[in-house]
Amino acid sequence: MKLVLLGPPGAGKGTQACKISERLGIPHISTGDILRNEVAKGSSLGKKALGYMNEGKLVPDEIILEIIKNRIVETDASRGFLMDGFPRNLKQARMFSEILNSLDMKLDRVINIEVSQDEIIKRLSNRRVCEGCGKVYKVDGGDLNIEEKRCERCGGKLKKRSDDEINVILNRLKVYENETKPLVDYYTSEGLVINVDGNGNEEEVTKRILESL
Ligand code: AMP
Repeated sequence: MKLVLLGPPGAGKGTQACKISERLGIPHISTGDILRNEVAKGSSLGKKALGYMNEGKLVPDEIILEIIKNRIVETDASRGFLMDGFPRNLKQARMFSEILNSLDMKLDRVINIEVSQDEIIKRLSNRRVCEGCGKVYKVDGGDLNIEEKRCERCGGKLKKRSDDEINVILNRLKVYENETKPLVDYYTSEGLVINVDGNGNEEEVTKRILESL
């Protein structure tokens, strides 16, 4: 199955993408993860992307499309994929259609996860990620010892993503409204969109997505 996951930052796309891709046996392709990995390696691509990411802005389309063109021809993607965080604007969506056409592929579904803005701000402010393996954790506002906690999977330190500070969150939400949300209409006109309620716990949302497919 060839799927795209849409939704505002903090809708739970990354968490859901891991679960859904595992269940369906298809690779989870997250442009955000690929970029963070390049930043961590200190590659020239990472250096180009870092400034945009820290401000909550979109990384230039040319960089992203190059990443996607290279990733989608890897053998594991021939049986399907789940895109998380891509496409992010109309230009990327149109270019993505061209890339897929040239490979004789087409999208099966676009899953749009819907969550209210208040809930998003709460979730992103309370999110921590493991420095080692990227596992995502939710913290309580009152959980003062969180910086000392370690990842249950790899023992790595938990930290706040640099773009999860409130001023950057607000910028990311603005970018989402202006640039990414129009993709819901774009893909609806192609008859591909399934809207899924992203409120509630992770398992409930996963169940809703799987049932809708
Ligand atoms: P994410 O993990 O999807 O929230 O992405 C984190 C950051 O990486 C975004 O705020 C952007 O700066 C950048 N990014 C990720 N995917 C894209 C994309 N498809 N187009 C442009 N920038 C992206």
